[in-house]
Amino acid sequence: MLELRPNCELCDRDLPPDSTAACICTYECTFCRECVDLRLENVCPNCGGGFSARPIRPRNAYRDGVGLAFHPASPGRVHTRYSSAQIREFSGKLKHIPVEIR
Ligand SMILES: [Zn+2]
Ligand SMILES: [Zn+2]
Repeated sequence: MLELRPNCELCDRDLPPDSTAACICTYECTFCRECVDLRLENVCPNCGGGFSARPIRPRNAYRDGVGLAFHPASPGRVHTRYSSAQIREFSGKLKHIPVEIR
């Protein structure tokens, strides 16, 4: 199940489960849309992959046992281990390669 992480790994802004600004890579690395577009340039600093909008888990249980009440957001904030300079260099190398052949 997708881990709904509570913050942007880079700028640390809150990304609650209903945020339309949350983006994830396939490893669930989570960043805000602004960081993805302006700082990461659609290159995940942890894996090199691209990002998609994080789906929003419904707050209501429309089916038994599913929804936010049963599967809440993760409480643990995550921070990238890489410096801004390292991220810039990494993105610079990979951003020109389309994600589907990266
Ligand atoms: Zn951010
Ligand atoms: Zn990643």
